[in-house]
Amino acid sequence: MKTFFYKDKVEVGCDEAGRGPWAGPLFAAAVILKPGFSHKLIRDSKKLSPAQRKIARDIIKKNAIAWSVSSVSPKVIDRINVQKATMLAVHRCLKKIKTDFNLILMDGNVFKKYKDVPHKCLVKGDSRIYSIAAASILAKTYRDDYMFKLSKKFPIYKWAENKGYGTADHTRAILSNGATVHHRKSFLKNLYKKMKNKKKKPEEHERFATQGQKRKALIDIDETICFYPEGKRIYEKAVPSYKNIKKINKLYNEGWDIIYWTARGSSQPNNPHRMEYIRKVTLDSLKKWGCKYNELQIGDIKPGFDLVVDDKAKRIDEI
Ligand SMILES: [Mg+2]
Repeated sequence: MKTFFYKDKVEVGCDEAGRGPWAGPLFAAAVILKPGFSHKLIRDSKKLSPAQRKIARDIIKKNAIAWSVSSVSPKVIDRINVQKATMLAVHRCLKKIKTDFNLILMDGNVFKKYKDVPHKCLVKGDSRIYSIAAASILAKTYRDDYMFKLSKKFPIYKWAENKGYGTADHTRAILSNGATVHHRKSFLKNLYKKMKNKKKKPEEHERFATQGQKRKALIDIDETICFYPEGKRIYEKAVPSYKNIKKINKLYNEGWDIIYWTARGSSQPNNPHRMEYIRKVTLDSLKKWGCKYNELQIGDIKPGFDLVVDDKAKRIDEI
């Protein structure tokens, strides 16, 4: 760690915090330290604990000739991109420094010329020069404080802990609650894209579902509805077959509001008794047989269903 890059220059160290997070502004700081000032707590902010950073912040403020912190909002980051936003934040900081300086030291490898002041980009500058380390600490602590305050208004996203970074908790919160004005929408595009690809093909009943309307499914009974003792149909003794109960329960479990139970009667279209098979199995007795449903209707075939559970469904739909 060095206290200067060029001796006999007034150097201002610059760094940013929060390029990567999905939410919250990007912060930058600029610091001119007293000549020759060094301290063991002034180093790369990422290598300090939050408590150490707070102590370091006070030390910096006490020992700086000048310092400033600025931010750029998520909205602007979305509009101009994060690289340009970083330069904008740093320029805002430099503008606030009222002391004259004749060299700008920027952490990283990108800088946009500021007025006619010479600059130097230093990769890992926050571990090499005290003024850059000091800027990294100010930017980081100011941003963390900001996110902490913001998280009280939007606790669900857990910004106090994740600082707006794309953690699993943060991802889940966005997917279930959507994004806020504090989110960088341009950063969420990939997340949404990924989720879109992951989303399973909707089930048939989901495809037809209309919000607010009761969803109605039709099932065709099987011939097995009746007991056929001695090979004879006895309607009075009609009981639902296990296969039919299973069909109804499956629709109930899928969340269908109305299950419409019918007999197609395709094998005996002219048999006037075909509906009798079903009507003999009353709604009450179906419950007794372990059938589950919100609303069960029984009747003749007609069109207008959200779902038709039958391999010859097309034929029924066309009626
Ligand atoms: Mg940095």
